[in-house]
Amino acid sequence: MDNCLFCRIIKGEIPSAKVYEDEYVYAFKDINPVAPVHVLVVPKTHIASLEDLNDGNIENVVHIHRGIQQVAKVMGINDSGYRVIVNCGENAGQTVFHLHYHVVGGVKMNEKIL
Ligand code: 5GP
Ligand code: ZN
Repeated sequence: MDNCLFCRIIKGEIPSAKVYEDEYVYAFKDINPVAPVHVLVVPKTHIASLEDLNDGNIENVVHIHRGIQQVAKVMGINDSGYRVIVNCGENAGQTVFHLHYHVVGGVKMNEKIL
């Protein structure tokens, strides 16, 4: 998708602080971190949101979750723990419509709504 911010980051057209990459996923530091570790993990294929997952692209979920494990290891938070957040759609406040998992950690999170 030419006009998608995260597709452009994956292609290297827009610079990013890469944390991890494999055939299926790209992971980079969030530009506006909410914790000492805040990394976005995205599928290399354009999927607008969690609502656009289907039988034809669901394998991306497995690759994303494996990528998250790699990110946690690279960032040194695999033992201390981390939170994974996906904002889907308007009420969740999704702002970039390329599926992305926020991986947040490096600090004890006290606010817990779920
Ligand atoms: P959302 O609100 O859609 O769940 O998350 C979008 C995230 O993308 C936000 O946390 C925001 O800080 C991050 N973001 C937006 N633009 C850029 C950018 O150009 N580079 C990086 N690294 N992160 C971005
Ligand atoms: Zn995209």
